[in-house]
Amino acid sequence: ASTSSAAPDVSSRIPPYPKLLSKLSEVRRILDKRLLTLAEKILYSHLDRPEESLLTNTQNGASIRGQANLKLKPDRVAMQDASAQMALLQFMSCGLPTTAVPASIHCDHMIVGEKGADTDLPASIRGNKEVFDFLESAAKKYGIEFWPPGAGIIHQSVLENYSAPGLMMLGTDSHTPNAGGLGAIAIGVGGADAVDALVDAPWELKAPRILGVRLEGELSGWASPKDVILNLAGQLTVKGGTGFIIEYFGSGVETLSCTGMATICNMGAEVGATTSIFPSSSRHIPYLEATHRTLIAAAAGTIASAPEARNLLRADCHAEYDQVITIDLSELEPHINGPFTPDLSTPLSKFSDMVEVNSWPKTFGAGLIGSCTNSSYQDMTRAEDLVKQASAAGLRPKADFFISPGSEQIRATLERDSTLNTLSSAGGTVLANACGPCIGQWKRTDDVRKGDSNAIFTSYNRNFPGRNDGNRATMNFLASPELVTALAYSGSTTFNPMTDTLSTPSGEAFRFSPPRGEELPSAGFAQGNPAFLPTTGKADPSIEVQVDPHSSRLALLGSFAPFPQTELSGLRVLYKVKGQCTTDTISAAENTLIGAVNAATGETNTAYDFDGSQATIPELAKRWKGEGKEWIVVAEHNYGEGSAREHAALQLRYLGGRVLLAKSFARIHETNLKKQGVVPLTFVNEGDYDLLDACDEVSNEGLLDVLRSGGQGQVRLKVQKRDGKEVVVETKHTLSVDQCGFILAGSALNLLALKASE
Ligand code: SF4
Repeated sequence: ASTSSAAPDVSSRIPPYPKLLSKLSEVRRILDKRLLTLAEKILYSHLDRPEESLLTNTQNGASIRGQANLKLKPDRVAMQDASAQMALLQFMSCGLPTTAVPASIHCDHMIVGEKGADTDLPASIRGNKEVFDFLESAAKKYGIEFWPPGAGIIHQSVLENYSAPGLMMLGTDSHTPNAGGLGAIAIGVGGADAVDALVDAPWELKAPRILGVRLEGELSGWASPKDVILNLAGQLTVKGGTGFIIEYFGSGVETLSCTGMATICNMGAEVGATTSIFPSSSRHIPYLEATHRTLIAAAAGTIASAPEARNLLRADCHAEYDQVITIDLSELEPHINGPFTPDLSTPLSKFSDMVEVNSWPKTFGAGLIGSCTNSSYQDMTRAEDLVKQASAAGLRPKADFFISPGSEQIRATLERDSTLNTLSSAGGTVLANACGPCIGQWKRTDDVRKGDSNAIFTSYNRNFPGRNDGNRATMNFLASPELVTALAYSGSTTFNPMTDTLSTPSGEAFRFSPPRGEELPSAGFAQGNPAFLPTTGKADPSIEVQVDPHSSRLALLGSFAPFPQTELSGLRVLYKVKGQCTTDTISAAENTLIGAVNAATGETNTAYDFDGSQATIPELAKRWKGEGKEWIVVAEHNYGEGSAREHAALQLRYLGGRVLLAKSFARIHETNLKKQGVVPLTFVNEGDYDLLDACDEVSNEGLLDVLRSGGQGQVRLKVQKRDGKEVVVETKHTLSVDQCGFILAGSALNLLALKASE
């Protein structure tokens, strides 16, 4: 992949402030000057038709949150390489010459981390050539800025280039809310949702509730912004933020760096929040300026200081939150979260006890820092400070130590300022500016084999089983980069760098001093290798999109059959999932539900056909598809938590899945299911989960009426048990008028194509 050296149009990156201010006045008129939170202001000032969204189904505006279907016009779209494939294939089938809003593609997820950037990057480009060629050619044709492999991780590049106070953007990745650190509303979506914005169709969102987090005091010593969100994840759990936007406020906000706020927003995805946002802060302008965005800094600075406009970027005084949590930064201890779930949160001082009680490994093999979550200048210079202290004492890391810079800009800056040299001289391996080990693209070269129980520490954001090295027995503990760095020198999971000492080669006791770093580089950010700059974002209709006809990974999309003119009947329960079921579980290695635990047997990826014969889940689904048998999956809470990956919905639909019945859903995945024509239903009585078993036959009553009436009414499932008995399960749904249209048409894409042909 190669890029153009002509500069992109930077003016397209300034949020449309005059338009937003005028929409906000309209919203205030409609809502009779009601006090609004910051998130509401930015969201509602992006409404397509404010009156229609705010007054329909809301008791005339009295109860918007949780009730209204907001139809929004985002300012921009960002896509990562894995999800951009689906988004672009869907966009292409709409036949438009260019995207309706500025958009960017970032090649980051498909780069392996193994020996270091110089070896890994060329190998990954060769291995994924057909995908990168497709993305680059489509980007050039349709006027999308293309960031080539090695340019950086989507969220870091967005923070450095596109995010701005007051902006609203969609990203085809669940950690898109990272941009909220710079005062934007940035929401993670599936590719089909991104296509709404790309074709100028309003994008629909159930109006979120607002969870306020009041920050007081100031961080000091070892505590870092990462610890704010690690602590909050423990309080909220992985589903505590579902349906909410997390909005930070309070005197503590001004004490945080812009990149620290981004880290906090990034991991709001781990509690299921729609997004997270910080208000306008004095730390935003210097960050915008240091990242070469003086135009945006000036525009945002004017908005933030003009009395009549200031209100756009801050909550109204006394605006009401649905729930408020207070965190005193001065009292905050470093935290370590995990293993296997990001909400198992332990203060550092209690961690060694937890290791004992849970029999977690006492040693660990690798410490990994960086990623989209934690590779800011502040993060890396704090880690560097610890490395310098240890090197001066003659110490070397006992665990393998890897660094993933978030972008070429931050990598080049850290190289110029000798930070990377300090880290690599101490034994660290600097990987490519890409996701690498954070998304399973980690070829471990130590002697840990698949199935071996072992521990690693990372400064990443997610720690589902198998996520980093493909080994489901690897326990990934999440912590700040400075804590991961210090721990790497001990190689021990019970080491507390705040209180414990290490022995130097000369036998002296060494204790780390609290890390110190710089918020921004005094010489500004370096641009780095110009080969990593993006393309211009100007459409060129003469370009032919490259889809390799022999590709096993890419194919132009076909369509699904429309919903039948009858109720669904004879759906067989393919699988009843027990416990956590993330999108990694559902579509690991492009396969279907292979990580899901069978509720009846406790086995993973082991399903049973009607005759008792055993099969993997994809095998059984394919067999039933061959027999023309459609099916349903039954699951527990927060089904589909994790990534925005659309394949997790598409694969089910492709193999004959029609209904997903769960105790609750993660937001992005629930929408993805609807867009692919799969009906997500939840139990009215959660206990009814126990009534269903694999191979039961399910028919529905009321679904066709619900779909035809645009979401009115409920669906009842009649379940024929294998012993001939019948039970009835009452369900709920969240289908809107538009979403009923997707399902009736077969999928959102079918509907789009239908409308385009009218
Ligand atoms: Fe990449 Fe990991 Fe960030 Fe996702 S969370 S964008 S995989 S670095």
